[in-house]
Amino acid sequence: MHLIAAAVTTLALLPPAPLPAPPEVSRALGKPHDGRLAGGVPFPEQGPAFYTWDWGLKRSPNRVWRRYGTAKTVATTLTVLEEFRAAHPEAPRVGVADLSRPHGGPFGRRFGGLGHASHQNGLDVDIAYPRRDRREKPPIRPDQVDRRLAQDLVDRFVRAGARHVFVGLNVRLKGPRKVVVRLPNHDDHLHVRFRP
Ligand SMILES: [Zn+2]
Repeated sequence: MHLIAAAVTTLALLPPAPLPAPPEVSRALGKPHDGRLAGGVPFPEQGPAFYTWDWGLKRSPNRVWRRYGTAKTVATTLTVLEEFRAAHPEAPRVGVADLSRPHGGPFGRRFGGLGHASHQNGLDVDIAYPRRDRREKPPIRPDQVDRRLAQDLVDRFVRAGARHVFVGLNVRLKGPRKVVVRLPNHDDHLHVRFRP
């Protein structure tokens, strides 16, 4: 009897337990061309496998507000780049350029460089092709692209489940139709779009 009474008294004195905060889950909202990003996470500034590149300022590293994605976009990209590094220890580090803004939304010309019509909901990542001269900056001309390494990057993103890998018209990169798609303005980088 005394034990039960003590237990009841103790319980009554305890402050109500605070409700745990719901975990912030990354969500890609809307479409890549008209969307937002909830619970986005920043892509790291640099690592052994990659540097980041700022299209607006034309320098490395990229500003942090230009490199937010869903947790899955960031994790999958990191895994691909680490595996690429392990397979090609002699290769230069890979350049990761823009993802999305911290809460997604428009990422057009007013943010610098050519801007992006897409990159609005945390699913898009720009990756500079590796250069034959191994410099850590995007190539300017297609003949500066190390096509063997660039093709391997394309293949790895396809295998990682990308919905699309957009590549340039003049870099002669290939892959499954409907996934690897040739577009203007992609002779210096490939653009990976993940599935929501
Ligand atoms: Zn892009």
